[in-house]
Amino acid sequence: MAGKLIIISGPSGAGKSTIVKHLKENTGFELEFSVSATSRPKRENETEGKEYYFLTIDVFKSQIEEKQFLEWEEVYPKQYYGTLKSEINRLSQSGKNIIFDVDAVGGTNIKRQYKDAAISFFIKPPSVEILEERLRNRATESEESLQKRLKKVRLEMTYARRYDHEIINDNLELTLNEVTKLVSDFLKS
Ligand code: 5GP
Repeated sequence: MAGKLIIISGPSGAGKSTIVKHLKENTGFELEFSVSATSRPKRENETEGKEYYFLTIDVFKSQIEEKQFLEWEEVYPKQYYGTLKSEINRLSQSGKNIIFDVDAVGGTNIKRQYKDAAISFFIKPPSVEILEERLRNRATESEESLQKRLKKVRLEMTYARRYDHEIINDNLELTLNEVTKLVSDFLKS
């Protein structure tokens, strides 16, 4: 593979998608976003093939059987997410670097497979209370879905030490500067 991999992980609401957006749009790093597949319902502001490939649970499960995923997780009960091998093949042909927004387990799996060709970041919220506040402000989730997300936070946090870099996203501007500098050094190395 010509390009390098940048993995952004951490609990839902920690700020991963803001970081991914910044790295893609404001840095000139030539990054392509790895569009994952998911069985969760599409949100109103999302577009098929942009944020995700939206699949039914049955189709998702048959693609697992057919070994079409590089990695997949049942991130929340009955909600599957995964990186399709076909997506990575498509993006690596462009020779660009690939950026991932995946959960704590998925990020660990990708890093294990790609080793030094990948840099991995675990983005932490300053506290679980602040995370809850951010998720509520985002207002994209039902109360049930929000509770599912909060329930998973503690488990996800136990994966932080397996990452190349743990970043506490307390001040967004500082976080963006720090991640940008580390990615810049990594891409030059
Ligand atoms: P959301 O439903 O908020 O878009 O995403 C929920 C969680 O699933 C997030 O932590 C996100 O990073 C994770 N996720 C998204 N795509 C993938 C994937 O391909 N694999 C894994 N393991 N997790 C993913």
